[in-house]
Amino acid sequence: MCGIIGIIGADSLSYKLFLGMQKLQDRGQDAAGMITYNGRNFHFHRGSVGEDESELLVKNSFTHRDLENLTGFMGIGHVRYPTVGAGRIAQPLYVDSPYGIAMGHNGNIVNYLQLRENIETKLLHKCNTDCDIELILHLFAHSLDRRVRDGFTVEKVFQSVDDIMSQLIGSYSVVALIGDKGILAFRDPNGIKPLLMGEKRETRSRKSYAFASERSALYALGYENIHWLKHGEAVFADTDGNVHSRIIRQGEEALCEFEGTYFSRPESDFNGRPNILLRKELARALAPQLRHLDLDYVFPVPDTSNIGALELARELGVPFEFGLIRDKYATRTFIMPLQEYRELALELKLIPIREFIEGKKILLVEDSIVRGTTSSKVVSMIRAFNPKKVYMAVYSPPRRFPCFYGIDFPVEEELIARGDISIDQIAERIGVDGLFFQKIEDHKRIYGVGVCMACLTGEYPTDVSAAREFVEQRMADRITKARGHAI
Ligand code: SF4
Repeated sequence: MCGIIGIIGADSLSYKLFLGMQKLQDRGQDAAGMITYNGRNFHFHRGSVGEDESELLVKNSFTHRDLENLTGFMGIGHVRYPTVGAGRIAQPLYVDSPYGIAMGHNGNIVNYLQLRENIETKLLHKCNTDCDIELILHLFAHSLDRRVRDGFTVEKVFQSVDDIMSQLIGSYSVVALIGDKGILAFRDPNGIKPLLMGEKRETRSRKSYAFASERSALYALGYENIHWLKHGEAVFADTDGNVHSRIIRQGEEALCEFEGTYFSRPESDFNGRPNILLRKELARALAPQLRHLDLDYVFPVPDTSNIGALELARELGVPFEFGLIRDKYATRTFIMPLQEYRELALELKLIPIREFIEGKKILLVEDSIVRGTTSSKVVSMIRAFNPKKVYMAVYSPPRRFPCFYGIDFPVEEELIARGDISIDQIAERIGVDGLFFQKIEDHKRIYGVGVCMACLTGEYPTDVSAAREFVEQRMADRITKARGHAI
């Protein structure tokens, strides 16, 4: 998934990027990187990468001295979430020419293999990583280099964005620094990944501009007029303080539903709609399926479903309790790169409270079920305290199809709801007495149009034929493992 933030024109730039990256930490804990430009040089720092997961957090990845050395008036910070690409490549990446370009992104390029081959055989650029931002960077730099030989214009930057959009298939929200010229941000033609912009008056005569994956980061740094870039839009903020924007190419808008249901922070928003209100509405829509249940308590599976569970408890008139306490120092399990890490992290993360469980009839509320391993583990932890009944309500529909756009479930075999498995079968595997999913028609009604729900419906907003080959090739080991463990 990844989180990105880019700023131009701010004082104490590296500290602001550092704080913004911490606000985006939920979006990735696999690596962290920052690059700044001071008018003469680019300065780069990759976050510490080690076996200990805690070292990958933003706050542990930069020392005071690192931040002091990251001088400049414009820069980009990035937190990485592991997807199909191999290795912990800390972004942003950089090329020298033209002008020096640094780039970071959030997304996944579906036609990665074909593009990489083209770049290496036709453009003769060697790709040094397996990270798809390197393709975007090479393509953009190649196009801009050809165009600016007789001088730089903003129009040429937008033409180069158009050049790469004509070749890329998939999801990508990108922020780039172009040395001495300015900062560029753009979203893919379907707008699958989020990207927002804000502005702030630094002095009477100077404004700074910032771009980030979530409102939370811009809001925390005091930016105002925060708004979403449109799908297919590019914005260029130049070093003289001027902002230029252009719709480059637009397909059908398809912002990732998982952002609103689970991924982005509760204080962030979904295309202008507060996540808190959205999640409440999603949870309320489950109530008609649940009124017949005789319940003692409603519990969230903390933290992301807290708001939904509270709202659903109110709606049902059932007491809300924290029957599972979350260890506040634990990391998010879903974004752990391997299943074994996810299971261990979960055991350390949630503590069941006997007083609310023993002999009680409980409704657990979840935002979503992907692999089902978290849910099974949670239910078995609760069952250890002898509840009378355990039900589960999920305020999104079953995820039956893989995601090729950068959320880490590109392999159908890993999904608990894959194929034609029934809800009763899933309930049995998770170990609950009853399982209730959001109805797809309610989900669509609440979200409205312009939303990707491909993992729920199988209707992908782009061509994904190349993705399946790519995933098979990259994930051969993982697929074998998943098939071996298929429930
Ligand atoms: S397939 Fe699902 S997770 Fe992936 S972008 Fe679409 S809605 Fe989001």
